[in-house]
Amino acid sequence: MTGAESQMRRITGARLLACADETVVDDAVVVIDGELVAWAGPARDLPPDLARQPAEVTDVAGSTVMPGLIDAHMHISFGEPQTEEELYIYTPTAYRAVRAAANAEKVLLAGVTSACDPGGPTGVAAAVRDAVDAGLIQGPRMSAAGRQITTQQGIGDTLPRWIDIQESSFGALVRNPDELIAEIRDEVKDGVDLIKIAGSGPGTTEYGAFRLEELELAVNEAHRLDRPVAMHARSRQSVADAAAAGIDWIMHASYMDPATLEAVIEAGTPLLPAMTLLVNSLEAGTMPAAVKGAIQRELDAAVSILAKAYEQGATLIAGSESGFAMTPYGEWHTREMELFVSHLGMSDMRAILGMTRDAAVAAPRHTPMIGTIAPGKYADLLIVDGRPDTDVRMLGDRRRIKAVIKGGAEVVPWRPVELPTDRMPFEKARPYVAELYERDRR
Ligand SMILES: [Zn+2]
Repeated sequence: MTGAESQMRRITGARLLACADETVVDDAVVVIDGELVAWAGPARDLPPDLARQPAEVTDVAGSTVMPGLIDAHMHISFGEPQTEEELYIYTPTAYRAVRAAANAEKVLLAGVTSACDPGGPTGVAAAVRDAVDAGLIQGPRMSAAGRQITTQQGIGDTLPRWIDIQESSFGALVRNPDELIAEIRDEVKDGVDLIKIAGSGPGTTEYGAFRLEELELAVNEAHRLDRPVAMHARSRQSVADAAAAGIDWIMHASYMDPATLEAVIEAGTPLLPAMTLLVNSLEAGTMPAAVKGAIQRELDAAVSILAKAYEQGATLIAGSESGFAMTPYGEWHTREMELFVSHLGMSDMRAILGMTRDAAVAAPRHTPMIGTIAPGKYADLLIVDGRPDTDVRMLGDRRRIKAVIKGGAEVVPWRPVELPTDRMPFEKARPYVAELYERDRR
């Protein structure tokens, strides 16, 4: 009994952003029981039975307590490549996985307690997910896609035809509807949490990578197998088709026109712009003028239509597209919120909702358990020195993040290796055997 009781923890004196809405509570209490939130609200409303429970009390007067961040667009397998060739061709899957295990900790320490990896080589994101859950490494709670399903016109297959897509790359080329269905079924069997469609190319071409009826087929099959579908869509046509096909959330959406935006809002499809990648690319500097011009044009188009999207009530999710050379792990996760404020006219508090409450849908393995501070949800919290709801930029300043708490436990940068004193009892082999039979839906 004392064991369970000693796990209770009360955080007092905080300003609380529970993030169910824009409410700020001064002098709040958050009660943590094990890995879950037991209660959160104004100190004066703390139920007497909870107040009487023995608990470890931490006073954080002057700080803000808010949900851990959800980075719904992060590629843990990409490894900050300097070139397209490094990303597509040269890096073996095994090395990607080992490197990803190290990078996952950087992401968590930046305050990202949940993340979605929308596309990478077979198994890497899922392996990081499972290694984190098993306690082998430290990282955010992961939702994992498999390879991005692409046609010859999507970002998953951009090299010339005489260079095959490598097993270690992030695209899975499907040449017809039968292959599309087969790829979805294979990925679900491999244990993905979502399906990712590469719905447009890297450039500014108007057409999408898939026909509308192909997208409808993909959505039907994925939903039948209980997996949501996220789509990379930069071109207007690809965004319009994504909304029409019932895609669950859209990445980028840079080149919408007003009619397409109307269709997106009508369909209720959340948008995940990832402007951070564009802005960081421009600031990184050294690139040919033509490339710089193209990126600037996309950013201008995106800002103009996404500001309208926000005005008209579309749901905007803040994802960083971390994993590229210009978006290294652990450094830029919160910049998208800053751009929501500076480029789209959001308030700081609304921007925070875009990386907490509203981002939960795009981390589908854990959606009901994350994104807000409420009884029964994971105690994934940040303690921030200051008021991020009045200036979201402070979330990108490590000195301001006083604590990252995941599942009720404060995250520390590393932990000592504990070697067992006994050999594994045979009984412990049983969960492994059972796992073989339950692998389908972990
Ligand atoms: Zn991406």
